[in-house]
Amino acid sequence: MIIEKALKILAQPVCDHCLGRQFSQLLSGFTNVERGRAIRMVVAMAADAGNANIDASSVPGFTLRTKPSVSEAAQCSVCFGIFNELATYVKKAALQAKKAEFATFLVGTRPSSELATAEDNLWERVGIDHCEPLKAEINREAGKLIEKHIGKKFSAKRPDVVFLIDLNTNTVSMEINPLFIYGEYQKLKRGIPQTRWPSGKYKTSVEQITAKPFMKVTNGSGHKFHGAGREDIDARCLAWRPFVLEILDPKKRDINAPALAKKVGAGVKIRNARISNIEEVRKLKDAKLDKTYRALVKTSGLIKRKDLAKLSALKEINQQTPRRVLHRRSDLMRRRSVKGIKTKYINSKSFEITVKGQSGLYIKELISGDEGRTNPSVSGILGVPCVCKELDVIAVHMK
Ligand SMILES: [Zn+2]
Repeated sequence: MIIEKALKILAQPVCDHCLGRQFSQLLSGFTNVERGRAIRMVVAMAADAGNANIDASSVPGFTLRTKPSVSEAAQCSVCFGIFNELATYVKKAALQAKKAEFATFLVGTRPSSELATAEDNLWERVGIDHCEPLKAEINREAGKLIEKHIGKKFSAKRPDVVFLIDLNTNTVSMEINPLFIYGEYQKLKRGIPQTRWPSGKYKTSVEQITAKPFMKVTNGSGHKFHGAGREDIDARCLAWRPFVLEILDPKKRDINAPALAKKVGAGVKIRNARISNIEEVRKLKDAKLDKTYRALVKTSGLIKRKDLAKLSALKEINQQTPRRVLHRRSDLMRRRSVKGIKTKYINSKSFEITVKGQSGLYIKELISGDEGRTNPSVSGILGVPCVCKELDVIAVHMK
């Protein structure tokens, strides 16, 4: 079977790489060149033994005893000799590699249409059992050579950079993967949004303040900020809220994250900074975290100290999407729980509440009632209109 298939393949000039690659899934621990060489040797023996169907030109380089040998191999009809040209691409990759500091890399190949067609034609003729695609072998073989040449590690899992060999243009480009930094932040000032505000309405953000020292050291081209939820712009976050900062196109990634975190200034504090990864971003985004808030409430009617005891009735809350976020959220009714509530009387027109709420509970509307869209509410239970004057997130409950 193997020999039959080999003879079919060898009906046109094919190099050892391309011959062996059609048997790539047979035996581990060998390169395709080794597989191709072994099969061709058997074919050459068959030719020497008198098999009239085998032309000496399909076993070039073997010295036959019974008929004239062919020394020069014709150009491979599948890869057109690409494996002899890899050194050129390796040099191009090494030039690209100077643009950034990194430790690990991966290689990708975009074949030309001629190569793709040649491979398709071969597969149509001989079948695809046990084969491997041409670009997979180019990626691997170029990877080995680049590894030797630049002294960095080839890695399929979370590589720092990716070299892309484009066989249409004969070029190599390098894509730098983002650098992810995990941390937990406190926002100690009101009036700062969590992420950059597109219109420029707010001069800065937790994102920009946090990114600044990291951008300076990594020389990134931009950044993204992934928070485990977000507080309102006018709320402080006294709890440590987890986030991942994503630095795009970093030229340097071997950084001292805790030391840089100490340089974050102006109303934002960072702790537990460390290098992270994309999986952690997904985890943060999916996390449904309960939060505890402290709110200063002002009433427009008079209240008595004992009225506040009624607020312990706030347990299951029906909350229609607040009017203030309707422009960016769909209008839905949600049911959210209040998991604990404490009150502190200040005077007949103000008091403080501390609320532990299920992820997604809107606290300002829990207080105001949002014209009946949140029910029950603090206003509803006390029977006087109430507004949240100051809001602080005081705990983010990690599960
Ligand atoms: Zn070839």
